[in-house]
Amino acid sequence: MTDAAQSSSTAAPLPSPGCPPPHPSPRRPNWVLPANACDTHSHVFGPAAIFPYAADRTFTPVDVPRDEVLARQRFLGFQRSVIIQSSCYGLDHTVLLDALRSDPEHLRGAAIVTGATTTAELDELDRAGVRGARLHFMPHLGEALTPIEQRAVIDAVHARNWHVEIHVQGDGIVEHESRLAALEGRVVIDHLARVDLRQGLDSPAVRSVRRLLDLGHVWLKLSAVDRVSLTGPPYPDAVELARLFAQHAPERVLWGTDFPHPNIEGDAPDDGLLVDLVPQIAPTPAARQLLLVDNPAEVFDFACTVRETGRSGH
Ligand SMILES: [Zn+2]
Repeated sequence: MTDAAQSSSTAAPLPSPGCPPPHPSPRRPNWVLPANACDTHSHVFGPAAIFPYAADRTFTPVDVPRDEVLARQRFLGFQRSVIIQSSCYGLDHTVLLDALRSDPEHLRGAAIVTGATTTAELDELDRAGVRGARLHFMPHLGEALTPIEQRAVIDAVHARNWHVEIHVQGDGIVEHESRLAALEGRVVIDHLARVDLRQGLDSPAVRSVRRLLDLGHVWLKLSAVDRVSLTGPPYPDAVELARLFAQHAPERVLWGTDFPHPNIEGDAPDDGLLVDLVPQIAPTPAARQLLLVDNPAEVFDFACTVRETGRSGH
């Protein structure tokens, strides 16, 4: 058998339920994004034949390789993006490093690390553009770290001026608020903190997020309206929540697609529609400049031309 025949016969593992393929034909956004707009949340999956998933993963995604992710982001109008390592790769950073090294100027990453990750590994990640470490408290993504392990990760991360990325759900943000508030370094909360909109727009979780945003070291991704919405597309309830946070703390919010949308219910959302919701979340050009360009440039350490030329009024 030739090498080509062999590799084509290596079928990708069957995707888990909840991992549909990306939207096949997203609409082209109906507005023009600012220069250097950044999608701060996307994932690279496979191809499994080259970058196999961890044996002990809790889900198997559909293969969506680097070039497909970057092509989707360019189609949507993003020049910069942040690749978030998925738990289905365990502690294997190979696919993340491969993606980041393909375009160091425009790509940054967040990695999964533990107390056992070596200094050499952290340095390699840092050189490749990693600027954040994920800490998750989501049971469906596997075991969370012990408090001592978390402390080790947080210390290593902040020593490099990275941020800690937190994924919580429901009342999780209330539960973790005091610990996050006490951290000295930067914190990024994923996906609108996945608050439960059945509790309305002034729930304990929403108030907790607002208090954290007031502190100055906590940022929030206004991503995954599709996950948070109770109504479905075009997600007016979650858009209202995102707008509330953007108004509350315009300098502390980020935006991302979550492409290619692993672990969801139903079909993958239309990424063009998600981008078209941004002007509802951030209604003015100034707010969108912060959300899509200036805030991500600060948190993910992109060369910020805006800052170099000086931004009057700030
Ligand atoms: Zn994600």
